[in-house]
Amino acid sequence: MKFTTLNNGVQMPLLGFGVYQMRDLKECQEAVLGALQTGYRLIDTAAAYENETAVGAAIQQSGIARDKLFITTKLWVQDAGYEKARSAFLRALDRLKLDYLDLYLIHQPYSDVHGAWRAMEELYDEGLIRAIGVSNFAPDRLTDLATFNRITPAVNQIEMHPFLQQGQNVAFMQSMNVQAQSWASFAEGKNNLFSNPLLVSIAQLYNKSVAQVVLRWLIQRNVIVIPKSVNLPRIRENFNVFDFSISDVDMEKISQLETGETLFTAHTDPERIKTVGTKIFNT
Ligand code: NAP
Repeated sequence: MKFTTLNNGVQMPLLGFGVYQMRDLKECQEAVLGALQTGYRLIDTAAAYENETAVGAAIQQSGIARDKLFITTKLWVQDAGYEKARSAFLRALDRLKLDYLDLYLIHQPYSDVHGAWRAMEELYDEGLIRAIGVSNFAPDRLTDLATFNRITPAVNQIEMHPFLQQGQNVAFMQSMNVQAQSWASFAEGKNNLFSNPLLVSIAQLYNKSVAQVVLRWLIQRNVIVIPKSVNLPRIRENFNVFDFSISDVDMEKISQLETGETLFTAHTDPERIKTVGTKIFNT
C-alpha cells in the first residue's frame, strides 16, 4: 500500500474502499470483510449511508488491529452545528464500535459548518479523531472554513473521474495543503466509462482493466481513491493497482476526456441545497 502524508503528519492510504449505496447491511458487512481480507485498510462510510453498523461489524469480524486501519465517516447536514456535531460524532463511533476515528468529514458544505468545525477541532484536540476534513467544498467554501478557524481541513473529498478531472480545484487544494480525495472515481459507470474506447485501449496496453487504469491515473495525480464494489473479484481487481505505472503520454491522453461537467449534481444548485437539507439520516 502507498500512503500520503496529511497536513498534520498523519499517514493516509492512497487507496481505500467506499461503501455508498450499500443499503443491505449483510451485503455491506460481507463486502467490507472481503475488502479487509484483500488488504484494504481505509474504509469510507458516512452517517447518510446508514451502514456504519455493518462497517463496524466487519471490522470486528476481521480481527485486524485497530491501529492498522484507517476509518472515515462523515457528518450529515442535519448535524451541522457545534452541539449537534459533537453528539453525532459520538453516535457514529458507537455504531462503528470504535473509540476513535481516523478521519471525520463534513459531508456537505451547508448549514452551520463553522459550528460543526469548532466541535471537530475540539474532538481532534481530545485525541478522538486523528484528522478532520470536508467533502464537496468548492474553493470559496474551503477558503472560508480555513480562514475563519484554527485548523485547515486535512482532506477534501470531491467528485473526480476521467470526465470531471478537477485540475484547477486540485491545484488550489495543493496550494492550501489540503489532500484531494476522489469520490465516484468510476463515475459510478456513467458515460459508459468501463467501455470508453480510449480507456479500453490504454488498459490493453498495460494488460490491466479500465477500472485499474482509472484508479492508477488518480493515484499518480496524488489523489486518494475509494472505489466501491460488492463483487469480490472486482474488490480484488481494484486493489491491484500498484504493480504498473501509466506513462506521461498516456496520462495526457486521459486528460482529454475532461468534460468540465458534473455527472451528478452541482453543489451550488439552490434547489439541490434545499432538498439535501431536508434529508434526515441516522439520528
Ligand atoms: P464508483 O466507485 O465510481 O462506482 C461504483 C460502481 O462501479 C458500482 O456500480 C460497482 O458495481 C462498479 N464497479 C466497481 N468496480 C468495478 C470494476 N472493477 N469493474 C466494473 N465495475 C465496477 O462510485 P461511488 O460508490 O459513488 O464512489 C466511491 C465512494 O466514494 C463511495 O462508495 C463513497 O464512499 C464515496 N462517495 C462520497 C460522496 C460524497 O459526497 N462525499 C459521494 C459519492 C460517493 P459493483 O458494486 O456491482 O461491483
